[in-house]
Amino acid sequence: MTSLSIIVPLYNERESLPEFCESLFAALKSSELKRCFGDEFSFEIIMVDDGSTDGSDKVIGELMTDRPELRLISFRRNYGKTEALSAGFRAASGEVVVTIDADMQDDPREIAGLVLKINEGFDLVSGWKRERNDPMSKTVPSKLFNLTTRLFSGIPLHDFNCGLKAYSRELVASLDLHGEMHRYIPVLAKWKGFRVTEIPVMHHARKFGKSKFGASRFLPGLFDFLSVMFITRYLKRPMHFFGMMSLGSFFFGFCISLYVTIEKYLFDKPAGNRPILFLGILLIILGVQFFSTGLLGELLSTRPSRNGGWSIRKTANLPDEIIDRLTD
Ligand code: UDP
Ligand code: MG
Repeated sequence: MTSLSIIVPLYNERESLPEFCESLFAALKSSELKRCFGDEFSFEIIMVDDGSTDGSDKVIGELMTDRPELRLISFRRNYGKTEALSAGFRAASGEVVVTIDADMQDDPREIAGLVLKINEGFDLVSGWKRERNDPMSKTVPSKLFNLTTRLFSGIPLHDFNCGLKAYSRELVASLDLHGEMHRYIPVLAKWKGFRVTEIPVMHHARKFGKSKFGASRFLPGLFDFLSVMFITRYLKRPMHFFGMMSLGSFFFGFCISLYVTIEKYLFDKPAGNRPILFLGILLIILGVQFFSTGLLGELLSTRPSRNGGWSIRKTANLPDEIIDRLTD
């Protein structure tokens, strides 16, 4: 048996909602899902209205009348897609959780394929919009984003930010999202040791309204990137980051100083008044600075924490209170 929670983050998507709901219900009640997951298969749909001002919540209210599976969480204001997903994750009670955008760009008929992959043992199955139906102003930055994320994270996915994804219950319980981190969920999941994969999915052009993520999101996106790549990764071990910077800086500073010294004593070239010497000294000082910053960071991060940031797959023969202590 499989129970599904479908999470739908939405912000000002009034026009799309009736048709979207229609197609989502059609896909979830299709014989294909029953065939894949048996007659006991059940689902809930959690619509998270991220502070819409166009009356989206009223439309959902109307759609709820003859659809008991539909639930609604309405934010007081627009907090962003990450927070909307986060609220949905907390409210979800299904064994498998699926996220899908409300603008009909994602195709609900892909849900079965994603969930089958989760049942194979993956924790995150991400959609790969192989043929993306968006204008160049979106596809080009997106390609760049995927390339850099792939390079820096070492995770071989093509499409990190597809709205259509399926999650295991364990992964949902361990995700701690904030800011704009929804784009990096596969990275965070993989770093925690979860099994991540992707499958190609259909993608449609936007029919109503317009995208909420335009070129103006480039800089915030870049900062999120730096934040996830560095802060999230090195938060627990600042010395791993600053130590590397310190070693690099110190090494080059040392080489330059050595070079100047050798030139002075072997070839009698005066050491003073040479810009390269200043660079060498600067790099050595920077090296010391990076080292002390790392040390400080290390001291701060070793203050008592409840959980070391780990994620446990299984425990055996441990009493519940100990497990609580480990996972709290
Ligand atoms: N969304 C949201 N909060 C926001 C921005 C977007 O919940 O602050 C929702 C939006 O309504 C849609 C999904 O996130 O259901 C993806 O947004 P959009 O279609 O604008 O992104 P794109 O497909 O253009 O990348
Ligand atoms: Mg969209």
